[in-house]
Amino acid sequence: SMRLTDKEIKLVNEVSANNYKPLPVVLCEGEGIWVKDVDGNRYIDMLSAYSSLNQGHRHPKIIKALKDQADKITITSRAFHNDKMGTFLKKLCDVSGFSKALPMNTGAEAVETAIKAARKWAFEKKGITEGEIIACMDNFHGRTVTVISFSSEPQYREGFGPFTPGFKLAPYGDLNGMEKLINDKTIAIILEPIQGEAGVVVPPQGYLKGVRQLCDKHGLLMIVDEIQTGFCRTGKMFAFMHEGIRPDVMVVGKALGGGVYPVSAMLSNDEVMDVFRPGDHGSTFGGNPLGAAVGLAALQVLEDENLAEKAHELGTYFMQRVKEFNSPIVKEVRGKGLLIAVEVKPEYGAARIYCEKLMGMGILCKETHGQIIRFAPPLIIKKEELDYALEKVKECLKGA
Ligand code: PLP
Repeated sequence: SMRLTDKEIKLVNEVSANNYKPLPVVLCEGEGIWVKDVDGNRYIDMLSAYSSLNQGHRHPKIIKALKDQADKITITSRAFHNDKMGTFLKKLCDVSGFSKALPMNTGAEAVETAIKAARKWAFEKKGITEGEIIACMDNFHGRTVTVISFSSEPQYREGFGPFTPGFKLAPYGDLNGMEKLINDKTIAIILEPIQGEAGVVVPPQGYLKGVRQLCDKHGLLMIVDEIQTGFCRTGKMFAFMHEGIRPDVMVVGKALGGGVYPVSAMLSNDEVMDVFRPGDHGSTFGGNPLGAAVGLAALQVLEDENLAEKAHELGTYFMQRVKEFNSPIVKEVRGKGLLIAVEVKPEYGAARIYCEKLMGMGILCKETHGQIIRFAPPLIIKKEELDYALEKVKECLKGA
């Protein structure tokens, strides 16, 4: 008889869009760093839903917040106030240092919100219409039509035009290349502190500081996308904090929802946020009390469990250990905190092969862009558990 895994995959292939290529594993339970499939196999989750599970699967405090709130009120819409949104956004502002936040649901929506804020800010403060925003080559900011309008990845764009105008692409990590693109029409720069989807591309030290200086010099808004890098993933609450700078605008998502519920936000100072007036922008679910209760608990867990410090310590350890394997297969090990890439030499095959091999050994991770294995376990992982995972990684990366 057919394995439950095969049965489920067959069903999904029949009824769902074919817009993903998942590993052939069907998960049905998760707790902490562990997940279980429908045929009873256990795995360590080393992907964390692309950094949405920094607090681990079903963290008890987050699940409690979800359940308690579900017993009271779940959604009000912004037609009315609710008693949870304010406390949640206050906490989000406190941990980030921004003065105001606008709650949305998904990452791409938060990015769209930041783009609208920057455009209206430039219109109101500088009289610029049709302003241009500079993004970076190989960026990933989401999948909406406007957001893919500034993607440099042909596959993300092909067939999906026409696109939203008003974007230019600078080489990532290159301040001179970026400054060359700045002109009278430029209003903002948007970038990831580390490019996650591109394969955990860590820019040269001082790069964010340099972008900050460019923005100050030319009167531009610096927009940082911390959707993947935020909430302790790289060893600080936010990755921009490694360089002691402050962006004008930040977008966050993923782990803000504590791994249970989509919660995102755009943050800024008053000057930028106050360009939004009633009716300018919104979202039916954004700021709903269920999401707010979950988001508040998600932030508290990050602090209570010192997850920034843990990510820094364990990430440094993980990278060091993988380097010490001296695997002939590995081209490079890089990352920051527990956002780590192991790049595989093409002559040893695609990263996908190694992800499938690791799956068979009880470790779940996912390739990005052909040769790169991304490791991003929940930040609650213990050193012994990481050691266990490292043994499997070592075995997997052994020469042929
Ligand atoms: N920005 C970054 C840096 C991301 O990594 C992602 C998702 O992977 C997004 C934006 C889009 O988020 P969402 O898929 O929730 O729309």
